[in-house]
Amino acid sequence: MAKEGHKYIFVLGGVMSGVGKGVVASSVGLLLQQKGYPINLVKIDPYLNVDAGTMNPTEHGETFVLRSGLETDQDMGNYERFLGRDLTNEDYMTSGMVYQSVIARERALEYGGKCVEAIPHVRDEILHRIESAAAYNGSRISVIEIGGTIGDFQNALFIEAARVLKMNHPEDVLFMMVSYLPTPGTLGEMKTKPTQMAVRDLNSYGVQPDFIVARSKEPVDEKRKEKLAIWCNVRKDRIISAPDISSIYEAPLNFEKDKLGDAVLDALRLPEKKKASLTAWRKFVRAAMDTKAPEVSIAVVGKYFDTGDFVLSDAYLSVIEAIKFSAAKLGRRAKITWINSKDLEKGGSKATAMLGKFDGIIVPGGFGESGIEGKIKAIQFAREQKIPYFGLCYGMQLMVIEYARNVLGLKDAHTTEIKKSAAHPVVDVMLEQKKHLAANKYGGTMRLGVYPAYLKKGTMARAAYKKELVEERHRHRYEINPAYVGQLEVAGLVFSGTSPDGVLMEIAELPRAKHPFMLGTQFHPELQARPLDPHPLFTEFLRAAVSNKKGK
Ligand code: GLN
Repeated sequence: MAKEGHKYIFVLGGVMSGVGKGVVASSVGLLLQQKGYPINLVKIDPYLNVDAGTMNPTEHGETFVLRSGLETDQDMGNYERFLGRDLTNEDYMTSGMVYQSVIARERALEYGGKCVEAIPHVRDEILHRIESAAAYNGSRISVIEIGGTIGDFQNALFIEAARVLKMNHPEDVLFMMVSYLPTPGTLGEMKTKPTQMAVRDLNSYGVQPDFIVARSKEPVDEKRKEKLAIWCNVRKDRIISAPDISSIYEAPLNFEKDKLGDAVLDALRLPEKKKASLTAWRKFVRAAMDTKAPEVSIAVVGKYFDTGDFVLSDAYLSVIEAIKFSAAKLGRRAKITWINSKDLEKGGSKATAMLGKFDGIIVPGGFGESGIEGKIKAIQFAREQKIPYFGLCYGMQLMVIEYARNVLGLKDAHTTEIKKSAAHPVVDVMLEQKKHLAANKYGGTMRLGVYPAYLKKGTMARAAYKKELVEERHRHRYEINPAYVGQLEVAGLVFSGTSPDGVLMEIAELPRAKHPFMLGTQFHPELQARPLDPHPLFTEFLRAAVSNKKGK
């Protein structure tokens, strides 16, 4: 049963994918939150994967890990960044998750001998999950993004669940369709027909949109708004023009200008509690978009670069955003260059020397063998040439391997992820991970989510965070082998962050006297960087990169 008086906004996509439903959902969420309503954002992914952890980032984009450890779609990262708060397991669902619950219940005879069907059983499980999210998060309004496009087979059951919710609570549910208005080159004119067809398609589900967010290259003019209003049966003032923008963070500012927040509250019959305060947000957007700000150039050395029509930056989305937030804070414009680590392997020392022109180098997270020797070369170069280096997860493990090989002289130092028989397994599989791997249990079994770390006094990490105890999000199976910690420390490496029992190495760094910034984290700091609250380690890394630039 729905929570009394709770409101639901379903965000759906028409015409095609990639029109920015996630940005619309996040922006609406932010505006309503700023207008005084506790809100929660829910992402529905229609695929059968039980979570997003088993998907290849080159095809699907990065896996975003929640505080709880749930591995989710990258859209959840955008939600958290817009709302400025952590989301919970209730805020995410996939078809796989929904079916898994229904099937488990069927196996446990919980359906009393009935034939278990998509309708009502699967639909009701979806409704139940939407309700749990509303209840668990104490929100007043839920913004729920249904993945995919109207007309897909895969998301039909979710739309059907939304229709039933609306039927039972006509005043509390509204539908926002994010659509696309193409301007074909041959015509040079913006066309509304595909959107009209998408609405007709949605109507065939028994659903009428209350709002249309019209995405297009240029703003939608009055004439076309009128046309859409008549043919799509949507009030003209509820057709919102959303032309292309250069930064997704501008979207809430534009929507507020167009009074989308007020229109939504009006449609939900809710009073405006207070004017949306977007001052801090506006300030951030101004800084982030300042094209005149001096540049700081960062090389990201990774491997997820080589697939067809995939958007490269999606594989490292949170890393890019974290860099941008800290750069904006420092009044700089970050220029990110992607370096394929395999090219460093092929190109020899000349290719590696090219890295010298960058102000800072990042090796982000990753899995498997491909490209890792190239990454290790990049790390060695950064260490020897004193270029600020920041290693994230795999980037930290490889930093330690590089140190063991080239400073400690353990030539065969390696991770057992790649070389099981390494004479010096400096990075080794965690004990509890061994049984998962032996049983081929890959999904959701890594060390995931938030764990505490204690920071050593007098280290760069401690100075950056300005506190002793931090909590950061993890996603890994391997760790620094405790058997090598002593030797590495004697050789000058500092483990500045460890698990409370001192067993797991969470941060490795070189003392500032030896290197301006050489630091790696076993966790993923990028997952907790927010526009209005940049991550301190990214900020310190960029600060060092800026000084390095000056020194050149
Ligand atoms: N492959 C490494 C591990 O599993 C690092 C993982 C990562 O970078 N997220 O431990």
